[in-house]
Amino acid sequence: MISEKANLIGTSPTLKITAKAKAMRAEGIDVVDLSVGEPDFPTPEHIKAAGIKAIKQDFTKYTENEGTPALKKAIVARLKEDYGIDYKPNEIIVSSGAKSSLFHLFQALINEEEEVIIPSPYWVTYPQSIILAKGKPVFVPAPEENGFLMTPDQLRSAISPATKAIVLCNPSNPTGAAYSKEQQLALAEVVREEDIYVVADEIYSRLIFDDFKFASFASLGEDIKKKTVVINGVSKSYSMTGWRVGYAAGPADIISGMAKIQSHTTSHPCSISQMASLEAVGGPQYEVSRMAAEFQRRRNYALMRLQSIPGVSCFKPQGAFYLFPNVKSFYEKEAEGVQIRNSYGLSYYLLKEARVAIVPGDSFGADNHIRLSYATSMQNLEKGLDRISEALSKLKTAKKVKRVALDNTVTRIKKSVPVDTSISVNTRDALVGEMESHLGFENRFEWNANINGVIVRLRTNVAHLNDFWVDNWFPAQLEADLEPHGTIYAVDGIPGREPRAFYNTETKTGVLVNTDNYGPLRSLALGLVIDVSERLSSVHAIRGMTVDYDGNGLTLIGPPGTNKTELFFELLQDKRFRLHSSEIAFVRYSGPTAQADSVERKIFLPTTTVELLPRLAPLFDYSKAENVVTRREDCQDVECSGREECRLDRGSPYCYRASKEARVLLDPNWIGGPGGSAKRTKLRWVFILRNDQVSPPVVKLARDEAVRILRSGEAGGGKGTLGPGKSQPFYNPLLLITTPDKLEIQRVNFERLLDSVTCLLFNSGVAKADKIKETVTGESD
Ligand code: PMP
Repeated sequence: MISEKANLIGTSPTLKITAKAKAMRAEGIDVVDLSVGEPDFPTPEHIKAAGIKAIKQDFTKYTENEGTPALKKAIVARLKEDYGIDYKPNEIIVSSGAKSSLFHLFQALINEEEEVIIPSPYWVTYPQSIILAKGKPVFVPAPEENGFLMTPDQLRSAISPATKAIVLCNPSNPTGAAYSKEQQLALAEVVREEDIYVVADEIYSRLIFDDFKFASFASLGEDIKKKTVVINGVSKSYSMTGWRVGYAAGPADIISGMAKIQSHTTSHPCSISQMASLEAVGGPQYEVSRMAAEFQRRRNYALMRLQSIPGVSCFKPQGAFYLFPNVKSFYEKEAEGVQIRNSYGLSYYLLKEARVAIVPGDSFGADNHIRLSYATSMQNLEKGLDRISEALSKLKTAKKVKRVALDNTVTRIKKSVPVDTSISVNTRDALVGEMESHLGFENRFEWNANINGVIVRLRTNVAHLNDFWVDNWFPAQLEADLEPHGTIYAVDGIPGREPRAFYNTETKTGVLVNTDNYGPLRSLALGLVIDVSERLSSVHAIRGMTVDYDGNGLTLIGPPGTNKTELFFELLQDKRFRLHSSEIAFVRYSGPTAQADSVERKIFLPTTTVELLPRLAPLFDYSKAENVVTRREDCQDVECSGREECRLDRGSPYCYRASKEARVLLDPNWIGGPGGSAKRTKLRWVFILRNDQVSPPVVKLARDEAVRILRSGEAGGGKGTLGPGKSQPFYNPLLLITTPDKLEIQRVNFERLLDSVTCLLFNSGVAKADKIKETVTGESD
């Protein structure tokens, strides 16, 4: 399991999209890549030669931690020549790219919870790098109407006592907007008044157009320089992205803090790259302006093309090599029935339809935009823009938004709640009194379920719980004088109480407090029914997944991680196997025969099951559902989130994969068609599952050995998948009471069951469902 920190951030979207474009090209698809963040020019020859010379001279060992003195000296001279700022070598640190400088800077500067102000749209790495330093990014909107610039007033009002720094990217990635000297002076006035730093990312400062005059923030005054850390590097100006050299110039104490951190991360940038960078920074500069002139020519062309597409508007950048057009007018439009909902959806559409890779604006905090890079040949630009304008012209106003009949309830509580089974009868009475007083009269639901002959009454004030309850169970009569075997109160909205469940075994009373989620209610009901049934010694419950094969049943029992669900649904792919129950079967005996009953009208399934059986998705569309994700913001799928193929972004009104806590109540008949499910089966096989790479696929178990494994709740033989202390007696977390005498009843019941069935220890690490089928069909014939 990766750390929470790593989960907080996503991979750079630019890197992902560029990788995707590369992969498509490898498949022979002719993709135009306008997503890249690097100049398409080769590294100038004289710079490469310096790298080669470094190798020949064996300059291939560790260098100084902060970068070689020669390179630092050349950087000092470059900053003086270009921006008129005076630095000393101890105010410079060279890192493996400006990204690395920024990372070390934020680590060196920010304390936990300190805020860093970032004008938005922003370059993706700033917030992520700040988060990794445990700081808090604070975004200030710098919208298109303001030329994508933050105003001094905005800055002033964003500053709080927790503010540590602001980030100014000038010129900006992704917008190409640049702050003039006057605009920066006005911001500097605010900075002067406050105890804050300025991170001036000026990596694009030499790629500026027309007659724009660039001024470094550090050049605005000696006092401002003391509060500024300038970030720059060779990647963009000298087309040296892969060489990985960037630098920071700033107050000596900050630079030395960064050096300490760098000494434990990268030590220093590559020695060869440093030599090449020395040539870049200290050598002839004519190629820089040649490149800037070429970018200006391309900007003019691409801008003209974009502005001529109906529905697109685009800001004219003063620097860098990106265009950031506004494409909002295409949202809500559709192509071939798929609706575009946001910048991800549009990027996906352009990639698939136009075969052009661009970056969604949302990754820069501006969902109405997309980012195009013109760091590519004129020929490519022309081709890419032709394709974009054609694809956009195919988008039509959606006739009617296609909606599925999803009946979804989003609950406040999403997970199971702790159950206290130790409450006394007195506590139970007090709790019931409290519940009754909160039930009220207007919003009160009562319904008796018949669960395997046990009558369970639900009293609740949550309409959703009542709705699922009534749908899930077979009804019992609701007569005034009918005495239920057990009662459950599910009452929400009680002030001062935590979501929690209680159970009292003497009175068979369950109480669910402030929990509007159906899962805990259903578990409590099943636990109650198991507890009641145990009094009838000939009936007991097994927790497993059961299928019927020609009137004979087989149950899969095992701890999490043994592929139970996978095997279950693989079996159901075969028409000969019919669904019986997905979690619990109640077994009764007539002579030596063990009869297993399915007691639920519906099966309660996690919606992520569609990953195993995609054909369930259309069935889910017409089922009652709980907590299905309908907005990208709610997606919890860490593997999927941030992927450019997000279903929700592509126009789907829901995603069944986005949350492990989403459930549906599915009609079992829908899975196998009429007759495709079995309510009762004669249990013939119990497969206890384990998952390892070494044990044999199937081992027949003697009764006592099987009972021992079940009792301990561990996967038997080989490497168990349950960690120490996580054992679950009889693999049944629904058992509410697990006192020794109750477990003894289970043991006796399982002995009886195992006398009637064949018990096999099945290793899902080496065998698939076919092996189960082989065993079962072989024995039946
Ligand atoms: N800052 C900005 C604004 C950038 O766009 C980039 C590269 N995309 C960097 C810093 C990092 O450059 P590098 O790490 O290649 O020096």
